Amino acid sequence: MSLINPLSLTLPEFEAQVTEWGIKPFVARQIFRWVYQSAVIDLDQMTDLSKSVRAELKDRITLESFKAVEVVPSIDHSATKCVVTLTDGKMIECVVLHEKTYNTLCVSSQCGCPVDCKFCLTGVVGFKRNLEVHEIVSQVLLANRRGFPITNVVFMGMGEPLLNYDNVFKAIDMINSETGFHLSKRNITVSTSGYLAGIKRLIADERHINLAFSVGNANPTKRARIMPIELRNPIMEVAKVLADYQRQHNRKLTLEYTLLKGQNDSEQDIRELGNLALYLNAKVNLINLNPHVRIPFTPVSSSYLGVVRDLLHRQKVPVTIRFRRGQEISAACGQLGESHLT
Ligand code: SF4
Repeated sequence: MSLINPLSLTLPEFEAQVTEWGIKPFVARQIFRWVYQSAVIDLDQMTDLSKSVRAELKDRITLESFKAVEVVPSIDHSATKCVVTLTDGKMIECVVLHEKTYNTLCVSSQCGCPVDCKFCLTGVVGFKRNLEVHEIVSQVLLANRRGFPITNVVFMGMGEPLLNYDNVFKAIDMINSETGFHLSKRNITVSTSGYLAGIKRLIADERHINLAFSVGNANPTKRARIMPIELRNPIMEVAKVLADYQRQHNRKLTLEYTLLKGQNDSEQDIRELGNLALYLNAKVNLINLNPHVRIPFTPVSSSYLGVVRDLLHRQKVPVTIRFRRGQEISAACGQLGESHLT
């Protein structure tokens, strides 16, 4: 009999499941409390469950989503990468970014990625499969269990989250739910490369979430060279749909912009980025490329990064610069997937 992982279920779903097995529904709530509030996944440590219930459940459920985990801290301890082997032997990565008073988890939504952005190592790895709900939820649980209590979650790890819509948003519901990790929606961000059908579904479902849009280049022709998704999801149309989405709610929209020397860093490129940000009332997050031998681009100099910021300021566009962290452990933005290449 294959075991059920309750981390793929909502509490009402799990209550219905245990009831079907002849177990009282409050047991489901007890297990959820142990898992989500105390980060305990060993049934034997759930001391308020009777021995007979524990024995019965051991034949029916598993709370283990991962076969193995390797934890790699960066030298300056600003980031910790977790290399995770899934139960089918495939590998994913997630990264904890440590701040003074809180931890942000950069979560993977797919094993590999089919989108193939030319500046991203995950794109080089290619697509293996979508992650299950429990495999997404378990990344947060893993960080909590390793002593990094997670307060913020960003779907900026491996994969395009909107291509795994159902599983990603069910996981978000569990991360957000009072019976789950109970993180505020304000602390959860989904990053997309601009998958139109996914954004339209957000609108239809009235799913209001902080969204980050990876621009690459605001000019369609130049964008298509580094982000093939442009061919079927033109940025002009993406911008219109994002504007519709912004009108529906008041959540933040961020434009992520990875700077690639000689590709998207000219004054004209930055002006077009600024115009897009003004149209969408969005802020811009500048990310200098994390270089890698498998990526055919180079970053801009740190002084030029300041020039780009000033150009955007002149257009009165709010800008932040995301500093590269965990680069030596390939935990920086766009570098997840290294373990697939070795
Ligand atoms: S940047 Fe995101 S969408 Fe693009 S290939 Fe990498 S993981 Fe996929």
